[in-house]
Amino acid sequence: MTTPPKGGLILVTGVTGYIASWTALKLLEQGYKVRGTARTLSKAEFLKDGPLSKYASNFEIVEVADLEDNGAFNEAVKGVDGIAHIASPFHFRVTDPYVDLINPAVNGTVNLLKAAKEYAGPQLKRVVITSSFAAIVEPHKPGHSFDETQWNQHSINLAETFKADPTNPSKQVPPNEAYRASKSLAERALWDFVKTEKPSFEVAAINPVFVFGPVIHSVKDAESINTSVFLLYKFIAGLNAKVEEGVAPKAFVDVRDVADAHIKALQVEEAKGQRFFNVAGAFKWAEVVEILRKHNKLTKNDYPPTGEKVDSYFFNNAKSKDVLGLNYISLEDSVLATAESVERFV
Ligand code: NAP
Repeated sequence: MTTPPKGGLILVTGVTGYIASWTALKLLEQGYKVRGTARTLSKAEFLKDGPLSKYASNFEIVEVADLEDNGAFNEAVKGVDGIAHIASPFHFRVTDPYVDLINPAVNGTVNLLKAAKEYAGPQLKRVVITSSFAAIVEPHKPGHSFDETQWNQHSINLAETFKADPTNPSKQVPPNEAYRASKSLAERALWDFVKTEKPSFEVAAINPVFVFGPVIHSVKDAESINTSVFLLYKFIAGLNAKVEEGVAPKAFVDVRDVADAHIKALQVEEAKGQRFFNVAGAFKWAEVVEILRKHNKLTKNDYPPTGEKVDSYFFNNAKSKDVLGLNYISLEDSVLATAESVERFV
């Protein structure tokens, strides 16, 4: 078998984050032991004393202050049976795409994999890495269908053009493209590592789209809500002047389905060596607003319909259903649960 044993010890990196806290909770609910890495220990203690308290005796916290430190994960991996590597920066506050996003994403992944190979021990069976739709999406004509066979090279090219001439104003990288480059390069680092280092453990990658759904991790105010939920929160709190769909292909997945995808990728034998497009379906912001309106969650602005035309794209989740057995939460359930968990910040 190449899967961790039931009840085994799973390392969850960046456990203080939105997706990782749900992954830790669901692992604990299924009887696993969880070791979570955190750069902010108080946020990890919040989890232990709050949402994970029922399982506190099976949950330990290890400080990893900086993903980029050489050997950052060498201690944390010791004795684990499986790893969900979720920690990576997801924000759009970008001065330098490499310093702010790409280096921590790529070096964090490589540091984790090196540590897993050298320090974890032979009982380590599987490492699952959180990648993203960002590592798949490229500019395509409306009507295109996205799936896990596709790779984003476009954002990497933009980042490399910047790197060759960083002071040239015309070579600056938009923040969303810098984030996409960070995820595309980090996932490539995973597959390159497997090819060149031939570790004894198996790996898989999960590629979620926009993640919505309830927040259980430590969030102190509206400004510290994680990036994907904040986009939805802005409608709840009336921070958007109007509904604008933008031109990017948009799809959603609930955070509980993202956590399940990681856990199934640790458990399912056939998941080894695979990447999985983790997507429930397409959405429009106008649909999100309709759901919020129906449930009385629009606190300050009722956003009249704009009639804006939106390009449609398709998102193929067949592999995640067939191999991982996922059964996706609907947009209405996901949006409502998100709203209920963050409306206290309005
Ligand atoms: P999040 O709530 O911001 O969580 C990010 C986690 O990574 C946090 O624990 C954070 O620590 C940690 N982290 C970030 N930069 C770090 C650094 N330089 N050193 C050490 N730790 C660092 O975001 P999330 O939405 O859960 O995202 C988690 C993963 O899912 C990321 O890999 C992201 O790319 C991926 N993803 C997210 C979405 C989405 O829509 N949310 C979609 C696709 C993929 P702190 O708590 O201390 O900040």
